[in-house]
Amino acid sequence: MKDPDTFAFDCHVHFGQYYHLYYRPSLVIKALHKSGVRRAWVSSTTACIAPDSFEEAQYLSRHIDDETEEALAEAGKCGMTLVPLYWVVPKRYDTLDKVDGVKYAGFKIHPKIGEWNGESGNSLLYDICTCAARERFPILIHTGVDTIDAPSRFETCFADFPDVKFVLAHCRISHDVIRLFEKYGNLFGDTAFCPLANYEQICRAGFESRMLWGTDFPITHWYDRTGDRVTLSALTKNYQNTLYRFKSG
Ligand SMILES: [Zn+2]
Repeated sequence: MKDPDTFAFDCHVHFGQYYHLYYRPSLVIKALHKSGVRRAWVSSTTACIAPDSFEEAQYLSRHIDDETEEALAEAGKCGMTLVPLYWVVPKRYDTLDKVDGVKYAGFKIHPKIGEWNGESGNSLLYDICTCAARERFPILIHTGVDTIDAPSRFETCFADFPDVKFVLAHCRISHDVIRLFEKYGNLFGDTAFCPLANYEQICRAGFESRMLWGTDFPITHWYDRTGDRVTLSALTKNYQNTLYRFKSG
């Protein structure tokens, strides 16, 4: 991660609704661009909203598509390359038809949001991997310390789909991540909210080159609690602080 170009690509960015704050896609892209980011994988946290009905699910889905269009349009103006990830929520989506269309070019999976447990979650996971292999899409997976979001839960996917690039967001739990890195060359991790101790352990184990710069921006702004003003200057400052904190270890 010493090469400065590393930080021109952020593999973990969001826009959309996050609890009480709304992160406008165009504003997020402008802040990234001002911070030197030239390529990013993006997905909408609006996907965290649980719909109460099929109609609401459809509405949210369309809204997320619109947000993605807005982000892509802004990126086009700035000369940035965006890879929009389709954040799949089993409770809301029953098919992956829309990714056969134009704009989505990867997947985001958050095992704790949208009822990933059980048979339907598992068969959807298989469909996502199959689609990713066909379309050459990357898959970003949220990881945590519980059984449902432990990296090893997805081991059969890493084994069965060796041509798919999987990225373990946050790299929890590090010994689990290292064991999987040793077995699967198609597996990467990101630095977003990755505890420094985990990052160092992974690097010591010889896998620094598998770690991608990822921030979870603008969730970093949400956690900073520096006020609820979602402005371009507040977002840019937050991104630059995140970068500074990482570089100074
Ligand atoms: Zn995230």
